[in-house]
Amino acid sequence: MTIAIVGAGLGGLALARVLHVHGIEAVVYEREASREARGQGGMLDIHSGQRALREAGLIDEFFAIARGEGQDMRLLEPDGTLLLQEDTPDDAPMLRPEVDRADLRDLLLDALPEGTVRWGHAYESAEDGVLRFAGGGSAGYDLLVGADGANSRVRALLTDARPAHLGQNAVEIGIPDIDRTHPDLAAMVGRGNYWVLGDGKSLAAQRNGDGRVRIGLSFYNTGEDWFATAGIPFDDPAATRARLIDLFAGWDTRFTALIAACDDLVQPRSLTTLPIGLTWPSRPDVTLLGDAAHLMPPVGEGANMALLDGALLALALAAHPGDHAAAIEEYEREMFERTGAAARMSAKMQELLMSPDASRRLLEFFQPG
Ligand SMILES: Cc1cc2nc3c(=O)[nH]c(=O)nc-3n(C[C@H](O)[C@H](O)[C@H](O)COP(=O)(O)OP(=O)(O)OC[C@H]3O[C@@H](n4cnc5c(N)ncnc54)[C@H](O)[C@@H]3O)c2cc1C
Repeated sequence: MTIAIVGAGLGGLALARVLHVHGIEAVVYEREASREARGQGGMLDIHSGQRALREAGLIDEFFAIARGEGQDMRLLEPDGTLLLQEDTPDDAPMLRPEVDRADLRDLLLDALPEGTVRWGHAYESAEDGVLRFAGGGSAGYDLLVGADGANSRVRALLTDARPAHLGQNAVEIGIPDIDRTHPDLAAMVGRGNYWVLGDGKSLAAQRNGDGRVRIGLSFYNTGEDWFATAGIPFDDPAATRARLIDLFAGWDTRFTALIAACDDLVQPRSLTTLPIGLTWPSRPDVTLLGDAAHLMPPVGEGANMALLDGALLALALAAHPGDHAAAIEEYEREMFERTGAAARMSAKMQELLMSPDASRRLLEFFQPG
């Protein structure tokens, strides 16, 4: 049986690794030219996804790269009022540690046999057991797994569903080597998550393993065309910072100082989601996992679900040797239920973040009663 996985993200790599642990080989086709081709972004909090790393035989290696103190949390209001501060004790269990996405991806990549990932292979189409890649080239498959993320092309083989705009646009910026360059701001942000919410906006700063503080500025209840009308001159980073500071007018100057201290790396992000509870009629030769199957609001579930999908699909294939149809049906039944529940929970959290009294509601969420 030839298993072709499209996409070397966390979900596709977890699938390949757990298959390998069970003596089943697969090929991963990735459109990026190499593992270093694209920055992998910031930190992920990994909780339910730890089971996948256990199935992958990599849990000790995961805890070695995870940051328990990354669970620290500070929640503030735009006028500077501190609503909540939670510092993680040194001996706290690693229930939701933060890990650098690039480190986690490297852990999975390094645990695969040489040559498993074929870099520079962008999936274009599949028909009758043959995959075709952009720029020419083809490969055979018995089972095709679309692990190709939010804008999956494999998805179209199973469903007409497409991601729709979430009503949130974000700009990602960051301060490199913050301890050296801005020790005062480093102390303010702390070791983990620093959240300021209000006025239909949020500023989420987070310390990364490499000493960079990444800052996500989100604009809620904004439409698909928001970037075209917001007057942010993305081709001029200094003017972009000035415009972002304008957009946060009235916020405590400590928060706008964070924006002023950022370097020139600016990433706009228009957020989309798939319909909650998306399913499709099972097919024995194609399935999906991760964001390709269930793109959710970015409130801390997506990477965990992608890792679990990969591991559980691998376990189903190992449990039904020679019967893909049974394996895929079993995998999809569990995956639809589990990720449907996660998507509903994520949508509730998103609704909270988009509400006018978001900071107070988030405080209640963390400190019920
Ligand atoms: C700002 C932000 C913060 C987040 N924070 C968290 C968090 O803290 N915790 C959490 O659980 N989740 C988080 N998420 C969600 C999480 O990042 C995703 O859910 C997760 O990465 C999905 O994994 P995946 O393997 O399905 O897809 P991806 O990680 O997107 O990987 C898809 C891979 O497919 C490749 N690909 C795409 N198209 C093709 C093609 N045509 N041919 C070949 N290869 C292709 C891509 O290059 C990529 O390598 C966050 C998301 C965002 C945007």
